[in-house]
Amino acid sequence: MKRETTKRLTDPQPRVKFHPLGSAGDVTGSLFLFEVTLETAKTIRFLLEVGLHQDDDNINHSHRLPKGIKMSDIAFIVMSHAHIDHSGYLPKAIADGFNGPVYTHEASKDLLRFLLPDSGNLQERAAERLNERNGHKRGAHTARGAKLPPRVTALYSAAEARRALDRIKGLQYDRLYKLAEGVSVKFTEASHILGAAVVTLTLGLGKNAKTVCFTGNVGRSGMPFLKDLAQVLEADYIISESTYGNKLHGKRDRLAALAAIINDAHKRAKRRDPKFGCGSIVIPAFAVGRVQTVLYDLRELMATKRIPDLTVFLDSPMAVEATKVHRKHTGLYNDAACKLIAAGIEPFKTPRYMECKSWGQSRLLDKPANEPVIIIGSSGMAAGGRILGHIEKRLDRAENTIVFVGYQGTGALGYTLVNEKPSQVTIHDKVVKVNAKIEYMSDYSGHADYSEIIDWLKKFTRKPKKLFLVHGDPDALTAFKGHLQESLPDWNVVIPQSRNCFEL
Ligand SMILES: [Zn+2]
Repeated sequence: MKRETTKRLTDPQPRVKFHPLGSAGDVTGSLFLFEVTLETAKTIRFLLEVGLHQDDDNINHSHRLPKGIKMSDIAFIVMSHAHIDHSGYLPKAIADGFNGPVYTHEASKDLLRFLLPDSGNLQERAAERLNERNGHKRGAHTARGAKLPPRVTALYSAAEARRALDRIKGLQYDRLYKLAEGVSVKFTEASHILGAAVVTLTLGLGKNAKTVCFTGNVGRSGMPFLKDLAQVLEADYIISESTYGNKLHGKRDRLAALAAIINDAHKRAKRRDPKFGCGSIVIPAFAVGRVQTVLYDLRELMATKRIPDLTVFLDSPMAVEATKVHRKHTGLYNDAACKLIAAGIEPFKTPRYMECKSWGQSRLLDKPANEPVIIIGSSGMAAGGRILGHIEKRLDRAENTIVFVGYQGTGALGYTLVNEKPSQVTIHDKVVKVNAKIEYMSDYSGHADYSEIIDWLKKFTRKPKKLFLVHGDPDALTAFKGHLQESLPDWNVVIPQSRNCFEL
């Protein structure tokens, strides 16, 4: 004890403890705690990411901080981007006593205005469903003498999520912000979704400061409208995502592939059935990022006459909100998208484009169509939302095409249709035959693969003291470590597990 105190007094370095608490050995629920102790000041504790665990709700209901540390001990939170597995634990952290500000990019702040309340709605509905299953529904039959399990409450409500928005402060890319004595942050472009940042922390003061570069989630280069991932040149420690640690993306021409699928689908959709009308091309896509990317590509293909000018319906209130935020942040666009804006062209608007805001507008799409149409909506895995209704009504007819454009998690309808090629599926408790053509494009992935991340890491001008691999399934983490050992053999690569603690 005494020796350690003496060392601290004579050591000019700040003491930094890093606790990977979520997305450590796992791909969801990002949560990292830092404890920074300067020579003269008390310890500052802050969180990097405040993500909801999307596979195991017990984790969200548990005390996620190390023993002895309370949410009220956390001074502030830094958030890399708006996806719920990086942001969606915030209302719960506030309910548990967190009382500080949250720093994220200005565009992420705008996206969270609807993403967090939506997450609150989902939490409330999940709790309601569980209570109904447990017999709590009003008027439900309860056997005499049967004891009901206690009512569960939602992790947080939509109202709590809305209140959490007041805590969020919007930052810009490429500026250094001092968040506290001895803690500064700089965001740089991550090219994952609008506003997503690679986060570089400077911990400590002057030349004794330690730098930590966290990739957040990094996207692929050459994607529509977003700028490419910005290069970071040095850091003492790097924390890298590993989602595609064991996968390489195909390198085909994305626009040509989409054009071929749409033209083929259009040929079949033109056949008009007396009862059902013409066919449709249904594209389930994630509301934030994927929808806008697909709209951008469709506009481009129509403008260059590579596909016909079909009417495009965007039928998802969340995707409509997300598109609004994308239209606002033109300063984040790449050169190609900026040129469109300068020429007065709206990047996410095809010539015949409609947004369905009400249920009534959405239901009109059920009427037999006189010509083929494209319907885009979320969820991207066809797990719910209006798009699921459109798929249910169209899946049994061969003139229709369903194009999946994003990651499909095991168990989701999208995964089943793409990977298992079933002859029938069950949707809303109804058995539906699968006669529509099912297409899948992995080209729209929002994550760089391992070779793309390794190329980025190779451009660091000096070797970090440690490279931590997080945000990956166990197989992806292990494979990524292997690839790194081949490409950067003298780097110290660590796969932390939740509850490990590292002194940096
Ligand atoms: Zn993400």
